Amino acid sequence: MSKIIDGKQVSADVKARIAKETAELKTKGIEVGLAVVIVGEDPASQVYVRNKEKACEAVGFNSYKYALPEQTTESELLELVDKLNNDPKVNGILVQLPLPKHLNDKVIIDNIKYEKDVDAFHPVNVGKIMIGDYSFLPCTPAGVMELIHSTGVEVAGKQCVVIGRSNIVGKPMAMLLLHESGTVTICHSKTKNLKEICADADILVAAVGRAKMVTADYIKPGAVVIDVGMNRDENGKLCGDVDFEDCKDKAGYITPVPGGVGPMTIAMLMQNTLTAAKQQQCIE
Ligand code: NDP
Repeated sequence: MSKIIDGKQVSADVKARIAKETAELKTKGIEVGLAVVIVGEDPASQVYVRNKEKACEAVGFNSYKYALPEQTTESELLELVDKLNNDPKVNGILVQLPLPKHLNDKVIIDNIKYEKDVDAFHPVNVGKIMIGDYSFLPCTPAGVMELIHSTGVEVAGKQCVVIGRSNIVGKPMAMLLLHESGTVTICHSKTKNLKEICADADILVAAVGRAKMVTADYIKPGAVVIDVGMNRDENGKLCGDVDFEDCKDKAGYITPVPGGVGPMTIAMLMQNTLTAAKQQQCIE
């Protein structure tokens, strides 16, 4: 029977650490602020934004929400980004993606000051991740690293396999494992012998978006299995890329969905916002 990695607990620990540091900064007159921008009425985005506001409140940050109508133009959105870039109360800026179709995500992200880009999607931050000189890590891969660290398993020298090569999860995930001296293989939809490659992994991270694709025959006995996927099963129930029931007795450590990677993403956003505030105040 494998040990279940409790993302809720690890996330609560990270947030408690952030809340403590935020309270200490407050005693020195320093407040931390996150601006969250949402355009349109996408219900999933509304939930994500609400959760981010709640997390800010819980750790003692000021949150500034900008809810713009669906028909907002690119120049209107860029004007807001510019205003936030120059607002000293705003340490981090998050534009909730995806934007409505008539807006270009890339143009908007590229115009956020990279020092305030707490999602770490700006090309400067992406480049910094590549060379290992980073302040902000993309939230989901950073959360995965926290979960791996929570197991006590060392990454150095381990066979690490990442399924998925997206810019948001797969690629930065592979980089973070590489920076900790894992031997990393990145798999994708054209990979041959996926099952065999995965079955050799000491650390397996699935970020595919295919419900329960990873079954026990993909798992090396005792491996650390991290499931980033968020999918709906045939009954409409939230599930991961890993077939948890099938794999849980074979893996050494495994994350559930929900309650694994999901709660970490917002915790790492809070971490990035705190880091941004400290850098802008020249602390550290
Ligand atoms: P993308 O769709 O951008 O990328 C999916 C990747 O999986 C691609 O690289 C694709 O390969 C690869 N892939 C697709 N099918 C297969 C297959 N049969 N075998 C091997 N590889 C395959 O998704 P994201 O990276 O954005 O997200 C992945 C999952 O993680 C989703 O379920 C998403 O909802 C979830 N997610 C969860 C978060 C959280 O906080 N828990 C945050 C972000 C994402 P190719 O490049 O060749 O097309």
